[in-house]
Amino acid sequence: MNQRNHLGHTARKRFGQNFLTDTHVIDGIVRAISPQSEDILVEIGPGLGALTEPVAEVADHLHVVELDRDLAKRLRHHPFISNKLTVHEGDALKFDFRQLCSEGKKLKVFGNLPYNVSTPLIFHLLSFQDSIENMHFMLQKEVVVRMAAGPGSKAYGRLSVMTQYYCKAVPVLEVPPSAFKPAPKVDSAVIRLIPTAPQWPAEDVSVLERVVGEAFNQRRKTLRNSLKRQVTAATLESLGIDPSVRPEQVSIEQFVAISNYVANHGP
Ligand code: SAM
Repeated sequence: MNQRNHLGHTARKRFGQNFLTDTHVIDGIVRAISPQSEDILVEIGPGLGALTEPVAEVADHLHVVELDRDLAKRLRHHPFISNKLTVHEGDALKFDFRQLCSEGKKLKVFGNLPYNVSTPLIFHLLSFQDSIENMHFMLQKEVVVRMAAGPGSKAYGRLSVMTQYYCKAVPVLEVPPSAFKPAPKVDSAVIRLIPTAPQWPAEDVSVLERVVGEAFNQRRKTLRNSLKRQVTAATLESLGIDPSVRPEQVSIEQFVAISNYVANHGP
């Protein structure tokens, strides 16, 4: 179902359209992105241009990826900034971001993402992590908290481990529903993600994903029980990990150690 009008555009729920209208919040996000004229900037889901316009003011050029055909058309005909924009009409989940890199320069990616696609989109972008300098995304606050959580916290889980395996994750700003039109039902927050070479490289990332997924599948179980299909308690001990701890107490380094053992010895 569609929501009320904003700037002559009826927000489409199926495209997760909640448009930013609070200028203080917009300024705060642009400051966090800190665009420089020479940057290769890429915005996902520019919508009606709430972030696009102030970023285009300082940037020489800006790529935008927008799924909604009407919004893409509006941006192509934007009265002030259309000459600075390359509008890529389509689904950011299928977009090849590497094609935008030039002369070895990495991308700065940002966006106020539709909440239903935010996590798959971030992991899609991380498949181009070598091409990305940093990312700033508005997400559901709960997702930001989970992405940035460390061991020992209730919010620490699979999303924390896999995000922090690939990136440094820094929450930047909290944003209330009143900053958008139409207002979403949940609080939002902006996160900065800086892709980094893994501190503890996994020999096979798909094994790490499997081990972490199984460990957090039943968070109340001890590691000995939740990972019994992967490793024995004796192996956990030999890796210096107490088999009686719950997954939220296990560091990324320890998950990598378990997954490297499994990758080499099989489950
Ligand atoms: N950036 C604008 C703002 O802050 O006001 C709009 C944000 S709105 C939450 C999300 C935007 O992403 C909409 O313009 C929507 O059409 C677009 N969008 C939704 N799914 C998309 C996808 N898979 N790929 C690219 N854009 C998408």
